Amino acid sequence: MDRRSFGPTKRDVPVIGQGTWHLERARRADAVAALRRGLDLGMTHIDTAEMYGDGAVEELVGEAIAHRRDEVFLVSKVLPQNASRRGTVRACEASLARLKTDRLDVYLLHWPGDHPLEDTIAAFEQLHREGKIRAWGVSNFDVADLDAALEIAGPGRIACNQVLYHLKERAIEHAVIPWCERQRAAVVAYSPFGSGDFPGPRSKGGRVLQDIARAHGATPRQVALRFLGRRPSLFAIPKAATVDHAAENAGAGDLQLTDAELARIDAAFPRGRRPKELPTL
Ligand code: NAP
Repeated sequence: MDRRSFGPTKRDVPVIGQGTWHLERARRADAVAALRRGLDLGMTHIDTAEMYGDGAVEELVGEAIAHRRDEVFLVSKVLPQNASRRGTVRACEASLARLKTDRLDVYLLHWPGDHPLEDTIAAFEQLHREGKIRAWGVSNFDVADLDAALEIAGPGRIACNQVLYHLKERAIEHAVIPWCERQRAAVVAYSPFGSGDFPGPRSKGGRVLQDIARAHGATPRQVALRFLGRRPSLFAIPKAATVDHAAENAGAGDLQLTDAELARIDAAFPRGRRPKELPTL
């Protein structure tokens, strides 16, 4: 599994991690087994949130990582409506309890909300001083939100921006990725398979993925994940509810695509114009 430095944290993190949204809908034993298989195969970055299943997913993640917490790069998120100065601290402590751990590796604001960003960031810094989080970051932040966060926090504090990024949705390439790279923040691609809208095998783009996959003895999804991780700032967090899906996704971690293959994928899934607003799910 290819690993790389995660933004300013200097932590070595796998390019492919594990999402957990809606994991509470799977059979619990299957979901736990999938996460554990993912860990075994090097997908040690686990992304969760207090929102997922109203806390049920954090509990499930807690079960999956029991006795192996030190292997895991654990990320959770505070809901914007909870992200006041005191609410953020309370939310983090509740997440830690559900996850049965004493610290998060990164704690994110799930999306920009109504509480002053100064208050959320002050709470993040307090949690950091107390050792409850090792770093903090943001999610669904467009450039103006990122500028505001940087203005408040100063350089080197924003660990990452977790944003929607898949082959059919490349809007972040216009300005968000360049901003993050200038500030050395990691970019974490959420919904890397389009959250259930992966290019079909008979579509034009799907055929390109299949072609390239065949040349590597790989699968189209592995090729897609590798394309999304083609720059050193990029990480992806596909969600898998079965051990087979987890194993396939982890298999992308060692795939190497040539420049010509990357160019073919780029042409098959044009990034389009910069939209007025950052696309989110
Ligand atoms: P996704 O990872 O793009 O796609 C998940 C879907 O792909 C599921 O239906 C899954 O099926 C299927 N899948 C996964 N691996 C597969 C494989 N190898 N072969 C065939 N199908 C496969 O969607 P997502 O859950 O929306 O995004 C990933 C993660 O990003 C989330 O779980 C969450 O952690 C994070 N996220 C963050 C935000 C945010 O606002 N910050 C928003 C959305 C998502 P099974 O479940 O049956 O395995």
